[in-house]
Amino acid sequence: MLPISEIFYSLQGEGEFIGTPSVFVRLGGCNLTCRGFGIKSRFKDREFLGCDSIYAANSAFSKEWQFYENSTDLIEKIKSFSQTKFDVILTGGEPSLHFKNPILSQTIKYFLQREHRVCVESNASVKFKFDEVLKHLYFTLSVKLSNSGEPLEKRIKPYVIQEIIDNAYSVVFKFVCNAQMCRNKKVIEEIKDLLSKLSLKGNKIFLMPQGTTEKELNENIKEIYPICLQEGFCFSDRLHIRIWGDKRGF
Ligand code: SF4
Repeated sequence: MLPISEIFYSLQGEGEFIGTPSVFVRLGGCNLTCRGFGIKSRFKDREFLGCDSIYAANSAFSKEWQFYENSTDLIEKIKSFSQTKFDVILTGGEPSLHFKNPILSQTIKYFLQREHRVCVESNASVKFKFDEVLKHLYFTLSVKLSNSGEPLEKRIKPYVIQEIIDNAYSVVFKFVCNAQMCRNKKVIEEIKDLLSKLSLKGNKIFLMPQGTTEKELNENIKEIYPICLQEGFCFSDRLHIRIWGDKRGF
């Protein structure tokens, strides 16, 4: 079975393919908790602290996930959103936890064969084996920085990241930053320290503001913007937050 928290059709709101019509497949389960992002969510009278996707990351929410038993149902569901060309985005949670699941690999293969771009949004801290199918995917590595609240050895695994750089069709980095860590230069230090341990292949580096409201995004952007110019990093907005706030399904 393949646990899926939600599937929806929207415009990609972040990163290098921002604005592209995409079907998002949000897989359930994550190896991290990212309490440092400080988002509070309630579920069945309990309060949870974590990221804005905690309903997909934390298995306490699994009662509201759907468990797909075969790839045919999943493929039909994805196709049901649009007759046109769209990207398929595997997100989570941490999608790489499910790469060995045949329901997922058959689904990926189906859309690759029909020339859809299949993208993965990963925290790049889970080791997995690269099979032939995975080599065709576009990876966005949202490696977690200290603002995630996760211990360094759990969130940064250079050997896992290098394996992805060496094998995936395309790899970009997307670091979520806040104003405070930009002001005290922590962002630059942490990113440069990580990049110095990697053998890059011209991979683009995006900085993206932390935040679930437009106000929060704007405050963080003011500090991120000069760092992008100074370091030659790209900037990624969060379009869906500007339009829909932290509503799910966009
Ligand atoms: S890695 Fe991503 S999905 Fe998992 S807890 Fe952190 S921000 Fe949430």
